[in-house]
Amino acid sequence: MKQVVVTIDGPAGAGKSSVAKQLARRLGYRLLDTGAIYRAVALTTQRAGTAWTDGERCAQVARDLDIRFDFVGDKNHVFLAGEDVSAAIRTPEVSQGASQVSAHPPVRSALLELQRRLGTGGGVVVEGRDTGTIVFPNAEAKFFLTAKDEERARRRVAELAASGTTVDFAVTLSEIRERDQRDASRDVAPMVPASDAVIVDSSTQTLEEVVESLATSVLQRAASL
Ligand code: C5P
Repeated sequence: MKQVVVTIDGPAGAGKSSVAKQLARRLGYRLLDTGAIYRAVALTTQRAGTAWTDGERCAQVARDLDIRFDFVGDKNHVFLAGEDVSAAIRTPEVSQGASQVSAHPPVRSALLELQRRLGTGGGVVVEGRDTGTIVFPNAEAKFFLTAKDEERARRRVAELAASGTTVDFAVTLSEIRERDQRDASRDVAPMVPASDAVIVDSSTQTLEEVVESLATSVLQRAASL
């Protein structure tokens, strides 16, 4: 059966990461977390003392980014110049930074080739905001995963709690709304479903149910090619 490109876009906390990981395992595909790449740029610029508002310097960081992924078990480790930054890129502060750096057009164009290179050859599940519209417009299976914002904030609080970080629900909800607003309204590559994406609302479905329905749909699509 053909190894296709699967894209999963959608807002923060919709369950993209968990769904993408399980779907990749289920299909025997690679995983490409494009949000982690924007997070890595935000972390690197912050460490260099560069403001996230400085588009040109952020783009230079994006062009020089030495990033590597290692998907082991259910963990997708992210390495920057050999250092495991998997936890450091997930803080609420870096989430806001990623959203800010990702709005600069030169940053997006610097990361476009990198993402396409990492997805070469198919047999990959790609997750992000614009992967079905801009990065892989010819992907064979596209999904836009969403959920009600309160549910997304609840999941984000639980996810951070599981990794030992306590955050306030109301603050998380407002940060999620702020990030959605910025991601959906930026001029370049805004977060919108591709016209040929299947919209999936995960508010009332379990992770297993979502993964199962996506896997069925991908396998049907791949079998038809
Ligand atoms: O998906 P994740 O929450 O890790 O993404 C962090 C931020 O990176 C998003 O809020 C968004 O601003 C940006 N992003 C993007 N395009 C992508 C993936 C992520 O702009 N394809």
